[in-house]
Amino acid sequence: MTPPEPRRSRVVVVGAGFAGASLIRSLPPSLRRPGQTLLVDQETEWDFIPLIHEVAVGRVHPDSVRSSIPALCRGRCDFLRASVEGISPETRTLHTSAGPVEYEYLVLAAGSRPTPPPAEMADSFGLFWSLGDALSLRSALDEAWRDSVRGDEAEGTLTVTLVGGGATGVELAAEIASLFDYLKKRTPRPPAREPRVVLLEATDRLLGWLDPYFHEVALRELRELGVEVRLNTPVTGADGDGVSAGDERIPARARVWTAGVHAAPLNGSLDAETDGSGRAALDGYLTLPDHPEIYVPGDAGVYTDPDHGPLPPTASVAVQQGPWIARDLDRRTRGRERRPFSYFDRGYVVSLGPESAVAEAAGAKFSGPKAQALYRSIFLYYLRGRRARLLTGADWSMERTIGRLGFDTTGRLADRR
Ligand SMILES: Cc1cc2nc3c(=O)[nH]c(=O)nc-3n(C[C@H](O)[C@H](O)[C@H](O)COP(=O)(O)OP(=O)(O)OC[C@H]3O[C@@H](n4cnc5c(N)ncnc54)[C@H](O)[C@@H]3O)c2cc1C
Repeated sequence: MTPPEPRRSRVVVVGAGFAGASLIRSLPPSLRRPGQTLLVDQETEWDFIPLIHEVAVGRVHPDSVRSSIPALCRGRCDFLRASVEGISPETRTLHTSAGPVEYEYLVLAAGSRPTPPPAEMADSFGLFWSLGDALSLRSALDEAWRDSVRGDEAEGTLTVTLVGGGATGVELAAEIASLFDYLKKRTPRPPAREPRVVLLEATDRLLGWLDPYFHEVALRELRELGVEVRLNTPVTGADGDGVSAGDERIPARARVWTAGVHAAPLNGSLDAETDGSGRAALDGYLTLPDHPEIYVPGDAGVYTDPDHGPLPPTASVAVQQGPWIARDLDRRTRGRERRPFSYFDRGYVVSLGPESAVAEAAGAKFSGPKAQALYRSIFLYYLRGRRARLLTGADWSMERTIGRLGFDTTGRLADRR
């Protein structure tokens, strides 16, 4: 059998996440055409991951955060649904599940993966990385609540233990504590035992890569919400019934690992210098030093900014890099003078439940409802398309009247199995 003819495109973008999609939307007219730019992704739907903790507690409908990847390309690029399995930079070829793809310029925006727990604990924790993870957690929380309301007194039935006090662990802990508070107020019968949310962090700080102000506010507000925050507390073991940390044993039916991210495995085929998280080290043009035709934006690459140091793996960095690469490709393909990437620090917001958040923006640090309003406006801006914005806005505004999605508070379901 003769091997398949390779597909060819001038620009090939792998990954339709924050970096890849923001690039596609900013393509210059000369490259914004099928035949010039090809987008490759292993999925046909993309989920707005920064909102999945709100899906897990029923504040946002899962459909509100889903968007179509082929629709992103319409009129702008070709779309190939395929998984990229390897790269041969010498021949400028991608090896995909749909056959080889040749490129002149490659944008590798394949994102990252959650860092898994140590192998001996891997089966004892759920991860929190995808919409599927959020929906599994939602079902587990609903079931635990119903069991407890029905009289299940087992220690740990209504305990959730989260490992890792980064943004994911902090945001999720605040949401789950607020959910339990909501369920207690709405359900006619009380749970058999008081619900518990325990957040374990190995270091002495929450949100370690952000300004200490974030740690101080998050610690205070989490404690006000009733979250038991344990600092300097590495996990030493776990099984199907609970978690051990130091001398303490915490019985917990729900155990979630939220500790860190690692670059997409595809980086392994680049033979590039990487940091401790597997992110490819980039030069001032967001390309690999030995391969100026390969850009690695978003979570898969690490650019060290002269003022801010290595940039973190966040959506806010990715959405700056995508459009910058589109402009750089425009300059390169038209033989114009190039300018190195310059990062603008727009600040950061971490949500602390439905009513509060902590933020740093435009040089100001603040928290509470004002920060939560900023958080919502940023997300409404970055959600893809009018439909997603309308649906998410509607979810937020109907939360008080309709209640949480996926949770039964009537007490009737609590009697059924
Ligand atoms: C729970 C959670 C909450 C977060 N909250 C925030 C927040 O509030 N603010 C913030 O700034 N950041 C947040 N982040 C981080 C943010 O989601 C990431 O930084 C961002 O998604 C990175 O964008 P990206 O474009 O690099 O990758 P992604 O958005 O992950 O996109 C990668 C794309 O590549 C595709 N892909 C991967 N491998 C292959 C392959 N081999 N072949 C083909 N396609 C492939 C994937 O299908 C995907 O579409 C959060 C992350 C998590 C997990």
